[in-house]
Amino acid sequence: MLDRSNELNAYDRDHFFHPSTHMGQHARGESPTRIIEGGEGVTIVDRDGRESIDAFAGLYCVNVGYGRTEIAEAIAAQAHKLAYYHAYAGHGSEVSIRLARMIIDRAPEGMSRVYFGLSGSDANETNIKLIWYYNNVLGRPEKKKIISRWRGYHGSGVMTGSLTGLQLFHNAFDLPRAPILHTEAPYYFRRADRSQSEEEFSAFCAGKLEEMILEEGPETVAAFIGEPVLGTGGIVPPPAGYWEKIQAVLTKYDVLLVADEVVTGFGRLGSMFGSDHYGMKPDLITIAKGLTSAYAPLSGTIVSEKMWQGLVKGSDDLGVIGHGWTYSAHPLCAAAGVANLELIDKLGLVENAREVGAHFRSRLTQALADHRHVGEVRGEGLLAAVEFVEDKDDRAFFDAGRKVGPQLASALLERGVIARAMPQGDILGFAPPLCLTREEADTIVERTAAAVKAVTQAL
Ligand SMILES: *Cc1c(COP(=O)(O)O)cnc(C)c1O
Repeated sequence: MLDRSNELNAYDRDHFFHPSTHMGQHARGESPTRIIEGGEGVTIVDRDGRESIDAFAGLYCVNVGYGRTEIAEAIAAQAHKLAYYHAYAGHGSEVSIRLARMIIDRAPEGMSRVYFGLSGSDANETNIKLIWYYNNVLGRPEKKKIISRWRGYHGSGVMTGSLTGLQLFHNAFDLPRAPILHTEAPYYFRRADRSQSEEEFSAFCAGKLEEMILEEGPETVAAFIGEPVLGTGGIVPPPAGYWEKIQAVLTKYDVLLVADEVVTGFGRLGSMFGSDHYGMKPDLITIAKGLTSAYAPLSGTIVSEKMWQGLVKGSDDLGVIGHGWTYSAHPLCAAAGVANLELIDKLGLVENAREVGAHFRSRLTQALADHRHVGEVRGEGLLAAVEFVEDKDDRAFFDAGRKVGPQLASALLERGVIARAMPQGDILGFAPPLCLTREEADTIVERTAAAVKAVTQAL
């Protein structure tokens, strides 16, 4: 029942259109409202004083953890000095220029420029436009199709929602729109034949991609986009040899690679970028979440020197590039970015993600891998997932209507830990802040095991 005695609760039900929320249930007061008031390290606290360990770092974005005063102070100092000026026609602020340099210093080899946006979605929108512009400038206007993957997540806009390969983001929105295609998900546990090794499945995925390129005509295929590790689509590291084999197909048909590193950039996998982690050679890299640890909204498209040369030719032929956001390189967000990247270095968080991540995943495996309803425990760095199945031997999945994943996430929340029930499966996802300690990791594992026991006993 809706608690009308609480003013804030009533305003929320009546006026706040929440993203990714069941609209009717929320408006009617059938689903919970939770108002978060503060946080420190890996813990958040709500208006009722209830604490939770946030084992998903918000939406895998609060990488340095909550309550970092260094970042708050950097934003405040910039606000006092100069809150805003635009970046059009060669303008800038000291922090935005310094941040561009810091990003290139950390980026994989061959990257040369950063175009700033505000969200992962708008950065991928920029990528699509740059890819089309590039091929037009190079005199191949028919080379425009972009291949994404089923279960990929690349945003929620019209074109970026089309790149996303999850049903939920297409339903009733008339998506996906042309010219976007989806190929096989690199999801060994669900998609591989049981007789296939990981290497064989990777070869199968690369073969499927090549088939699609040939069917469409290589002269019409511009780019391939992928997250180094599938994120929202289930937290799935690539099968062995995957990126090497995909890369070979892309090179063969002169297809650009966009590495969507919104989740994997800046330390999540225990390395600065997923592209380096897996030996990918991207032409464009999308960054957002970890760039500021969400202390302010900021994203970026990192452009390789190779693409930059083509883009420059474009403005020599056509004039000023007609692509700009009012808030590109917003000084407050750039100040947050500089302070965040400095903090990641100072606290050694990339290394911590690697070490504590390995510990966390090994404890999770010890505690759960033998459970009769656990099909797989997987991850990389401080990304982990536990996938639940009805029958392990037959790899049979639960009926979606039983909502096993969401039940597990709520049982875990009751035990003071936030994990995320990932879409299209019964998958519990973990992506805690990169400052997680071993003790905190152990607590998350203990409580997860207790929640799994309680929910599976009742099935
Ligand atoms: C979150 C995410 C995006 C979209 O970022 P928004 O800031 O929500 O627009 C894009 N790509 C990946 C891989 C993401 O995880």
